[in-house]
Amino acid sequence: MSDYTWIDHTYDVVVVGAGGAGLRAALGAAQSGLKTACISKVFPTRSHTVAAQGGISASLGNMGEDDWRWHMYDTVKGSDWLGDQDAIEYLCRNAPAAVYELEHWGVPFSRTEDGKIYQRAFGGMTRNYGEGSVQRTCAAADRTGHAILHTLYGQCVKEETEFFIEYFALDLIMDEDGVCRGITAWKLDDGTLHRFRAKSVILATGGYGRAYFSCTSAHTCTGDGNAMVLRAGLPLQDMEFVQFHPTGIYGAGVLITEGVRGEGGYLTNSEGERFMERYAPSAKDLASRDVVSRSMTIEIREGRGVGPKKDHIYLHLDHLDPEIIHKRLPGISESARVFSGVDVTRDPIPVLPTVHYNMGGIPTNYHGEVLTLNGKGEEITVPGLMAVGEAACVSVHGANRLGSNSLIDLVVFGRAAGLRVGETVNAAASQPDLPKGAGDNSLARLDKYRNAKGKTPTAKLRDQMQAAMQENCAVFRTGEVMNEGVERIKQVYAGLPDIAVSDRSLIWNTDLMETLELDNLVAQAAVTVNGAVAREESRGAHAREDFPDRDDKDWMKHTLAWIDETGNVRLDYRGVHNFTMSNDIAYIEPKARVY
Ligand SMILES: Cc1cc2nc3c(=O)[nH]c(=O)nc-3n(C[C@H](O)[C@H](O)[C@H](O)COP(=O)(O)OP(=O)(O)OC[C@H]3O[C@@H](n4cnc5c(N)ncnc54)[C@H](O)[C@@H]3O)c2cc1C
Repeated sequence: MSDYTWIDHTYDVVVVGAGGAGLRAALGAAQSGLKTACISKVFPTRSHTVAAQGGISASLGNMGEDDWRWHMYDTVKGSDWLGDQDAIEYLCRNAPAAVYELEHWGVPFSRTEDGKIYQRAFGGMTRNYGEGSVQRTCAAADRTGHAILHTLYGQCVKEETEFFIEYFALDLIMDEDGVCRGITAWKLDDGTLHRFRAKSVILATGGYGRAYFSCTSAHTCTGDGNAMVLRAGLPLQDMEFVQFHPTGIYGAGVLITEGVRGEGGYLTNSEGERFMERYAPSAKDLASRDVVSRSMTIEIREGRGVGPKKDHIYLHLDHLDPEIIHKRLPGISESARVFSGVDVTRDPIPVLPTVHYNMGGIPTNYHGEVLTLNGKGEEITVPGLMAVGEAACVSVHGANRLGSNSLIDLVVFGRAAGLRVGETVNAAASQPDLPKGAGDNSLARLDKYRNAKGKTPTAKLRDQMQAAMQENCAVFRTGEVMNEGVERIKQVYAGLPDIAVSDRSLIWNTDLMETLELDNLVAQAAVTVNGAVAREESRGAHAREDFPDRDDKDWMKHTLAWIDETGNVRLDYRGVHNFTMSNDIAYIEPKARVY
């Protein structure tokens, strides 16, 4: 390890990730007067948030009556009663203010005739506790994430957040008392290695869609922060809940927003039938995502898929006014043309359920503080460590996220984390030195892979993992298929020591970077499939054919999963927060989930 030297930095707060969640948290920390760094492996405005199309939910009531309590009810029901109701209350209560804040910072929302923020219908969003659809999703055409991310980046620059761009975070620095004291990172363009000392580390590294073969998320979505948490000996929560979006473009995986169905689009099978009317008589095409994805999968299985192989479904918007399409859905018209050669004003788009979002992640409370269990099985926070955004599991999405509830999660809990560090971190206090040997684990891992002279190219092992997840942990699951998945992921794990990395250099070594990302993904794949086999019920996105019913008696609880260096997964559980945050709203009792 002799050719390594560390470059050390000291901050009050270090945020890892510059998507919507990371930028909102960094902005809040900087506004609280804390010296704040934000680290990102890609340029901030290239984070996956930029790709979010449909919009951000908040009960503004601009397009008809709305109420944050209705939003809360829908989110609890959407979560299939796995969400923590105190956190869901916090989300929905604070959503309108968070959207107005974005508006004042300059997000160019689409407008109604009288100048208010335009809102569209989205799946599972209803009025008066399930009575009918409500227009709650605030949109900037179909480029909402783009607009939000660019605005937040501008605000961060204004507040003098210090950016470390194209730095790849490697590991948490934990001391012997289990306190997080900073992180290590590798600067991709010059190969230097960095230790960031901080009073608080906020992970905002996004989801891990790339564990699957077909997903809507960017190549960067490898869940690096999740894996850093696992390597630090801490658990991840509810990882078996993976959302399949009903409308990924067939063959390409590129997303067609649910906003299309919100604007009146609908799905058909090979008989030209609007089949969602059978599965969800009242919400139809705007039932929640897990329901629509399962219905599509059943249609295909029963021989009513479209195309030569009868293996996908059509999404129609050719009946809509081309003016509306042009004004409200310009981006998806372009995606449909580029990725499937379709003119959406004339022909349907070929679509297929595609991995889209990770409900699971790093367990936190609604302040963004990371949770684990102590020796007695009680919830405790991990000092110095926080998480927000898709990397975190607060848990407001429970077993299934409603569309447009992620962008609002980013800014509400990004803001909450900023407020929390404002309260808990003292800018004037001095910081202890880094623990002895800080970063040695990162060097060992770098050494292992940059000297890797095995026979398996990284891309090949990644293919094996992605195929196993796609085939053995998909929309419908059985114990038998998932047990095979557990074995397949074990083999991938066992294949890591035989990996081949072509270049030893630390300068722009993308082969090495992809290998570190693969290593991160494999650990998450393992906890995902192991958590899934163990959960013997169907809830939200986790649909088991061998256990078709939700089982509130035994399974209304969060899975916590740890992994050791050899790839062995240990599971434990913690209770769902079946209480609200404040006294003026009651706990929403579980009932059957029909749309
Ligand atoms: C195509 C698409 C459309 C979507 N549309 C919507 C929508 O309309 N409405 C909605 O509510 N949700 C939508 N979602 C979901 C939502 O966009 C995401 O959940 C959300 O943007 C995630 O934001 P984030 O800030 O947590 O992470 P990301 O935006 O993914 O950002 C992660 C950040 O972490 C950094 N990072 C990761 N690893 C490292 C590392 N090792 N070192 C340094 N930096 C690292 C990255 O550089 C990046 O800056 C959509 C998702 C997709 C994929």
